[in-house]
Amino acid sequence: MSKEALFQCIDEQGEALFDMASRIFDHPEGGGKEYAAAELLENALEAEGFQVERGIGGLETAFRATWSNGIGGPNIGILGEYDALADRGHACGHHLQTPAAIGAAVAMKKIFETTDFPGAESAGVPFTITVYGTPAEETFGGKITMAKNGCFSELDIALGTHACGKAAFVGARSMALRTFRVTFKGKSSHAAGAPYNGRSAADAMLLSFNGIEFMREHVKDGTRMHYTIAETFGPSNVVPAVARANYTLRSKDNAYLSELEERFRKIIQGACLMTETEAEILTSENTFAARKPNLALAEVAVENLRQLGVPIDRESVRDSGGSTDFGNVSVIVPSALVYLPYCAASGHSQEWVDAGKTESAKSCLMNSAKVMAGMMYDIVLNPELVKNAQEQFDTE
Ligand SMILES: [Zn+2]
Repeated sequence: MSKEALFQCIDEQGEALFDMASRIFDHPEGGGKEYAAAELLENALEAEGFQVERGIGGLETAFRATWSNGIGGPNIGILGEYDALADRGHACGHHLQTPAAIGAAVAMKKIFETTDFPGAESAGVPFTITVYGTPAEETFGGKITMAKNGCFSELDIALGTHACGKAAFVGARSMALRTFRVTFKGKSSHAAGAPYNGRSAADAMLLSFNGIEFMREHVKDGTRMHYTIAETFGPSNVVPAVARANYTLRSKDNAYLSELEERFRKIIQGACLMTETEAEILTSENTFAARKPNLALAEVAVENLRQLGVPIDRESVRDSGGSTDFGNVSVIVPSALVYLPYCAASGHSQEWVDAGKTESAKSCLMNSAKVMAGMMYDIVLNPELVKNAQEQFDTE
């Protein structure tokens, strides 16, 4: 038994995996509505002898598929997404992720099930593979909902992949994120005839923007704050009675995000006091956690990337920027999210859509499958890796 045999098994599945990804690409489905993709992926896993549970973790399009080699040993999770962006299609490479996870899982199963090869005694090593289908990464963060409903806690290790630019890297921190929708309510009046009777909701909103700008100087590095106007105010000769805005707060630190939120709420309150208006603050149900890096697992990933000859970023472990619900998995279980070369343009761009079914998409898929399979193989045959990953998790 060797890793070469494992990679060969993935090569043999290449056409089928890419066909699966292409079908997901051709039928893009938004967050929480990935019915066709989930069905396709679940059926593929079932056909390969995995035990599939559909509609888990409070989400209709989430699934869990398991296969065990004997009893006991580590339970290794591999997570895949399959949601598209609402009006763009697959502009983030999520169509490649779960077919890659399936390729890796099936190769591991086939290799360890077979016993007529040299070194077959290793096949007796017990372990479980759990493929998690995780919807709605781009919108409400399906993994957050799934985690709240008990998913991932049974795992010893969680792995995942994501498409990136020209060179591979392993994701260190991502940013914790929380979004808000604020509705300011004032009092309408004729802007020329009786402005003194009006209380402008638009003024309150603009003051809140200014408040954020002044706060920006006095926050820790790694903080991001953005806002947009969600609803226009109407004609300029009427004092606006209603104004709505969207706000996003991000930090590399989960606890610091809560501090920011408190200060943000004071800004809204202050804006209302100054303008004699009121505000209703709606918060997103899910808060994206900052991803907790695991250097022990990152090393295993980098070693496998080297073996595969995938070009690696000079900073092989680095922050990925932005926010991901994989962060909420990383605070439950030691984890690694590996980024594989796909397209030089930035994510969510038309170039990423255009690359969806090209050779670079295929190579991203195959490398994703192989790096995950290689990591699982190393973890299964070297139990101290699980221990190291756990120790690293406990100290971070
Ligand atoms: Zn993405």
